[in-house]
Amino acid sequence: MSVLWYKQSAEMKACYYQTFNFAKKLLDEKIAGEETNKLPKAVVVDVDETMLDNSPYEVELINTGIAYTSESWKAWTDKASAKALPGSLDFVKYAESKGVEVFYISNRKLNEVESTMKNLKNIGFPYADKKHILFKDQTSDKTERRANVSENYEIILLIGDNLRDFDELFKNRETNNGFDIVEENKEAFGDKFLILPNPMYGEWGKR
Ligand SMILES: [Mg+2]
Repeated sequence: MSVLWYKQSAEMKACYYQTFNFAKKLLDEKIAGEETNKLPKAVVVDVDETMLDNSPYEVELINTGIAYTSESWKAWTDKASAKALPGSLDFVKYAESKGVEVFYISNRKLNEVESTMKNLKNIGFPYADKKHILFKDQTSDKTERRANVSENYEIILLIGDNLRDFDELFKNRETNNGFDIVEENKEAFGDKFLILPNPMYGEWGKR
């Protein structure tokens, strides 16, 4: 049902459009705001189920009855054929038109940088280059990669489908599935963090 919802529901499309339309408004608001930081502004986005749609891979897993493996995943990303999610390309182009750089921080592996760059470029995503694509080297913790961006940019907005795309403090799901941490940080959603729906897989399903 989760893969079906992702692929077949008009609601899914509407959620993505809603988020990226709202992201444009937020971006406008944040660049019009008082200058508190001299650094140029940037947006951080995740790649999988944020910019690119990997649901065809999920369908393949169902059809073959074989669970996820890093090999089959790599074979999928090597194809560089994932499509843009609704509104994602338009948003990144909008950010570019406003002079805001976009960084793709993903836990795809370093050996997937070339194919992902090709995939993003083919679709027409701006900033599909080595400077803006920060993939997983040693750790799935994105904190250091965000910090690297923050050395030269003010990150005004983060968009992802996993709470760890925003902050590592959301990693712990042992207590109350992590609900409490979201509760404690609820003001950040719709302000600095924009979460997209991914019912197919994620940290939430690992318990
Ligand atoms: Mg993702």
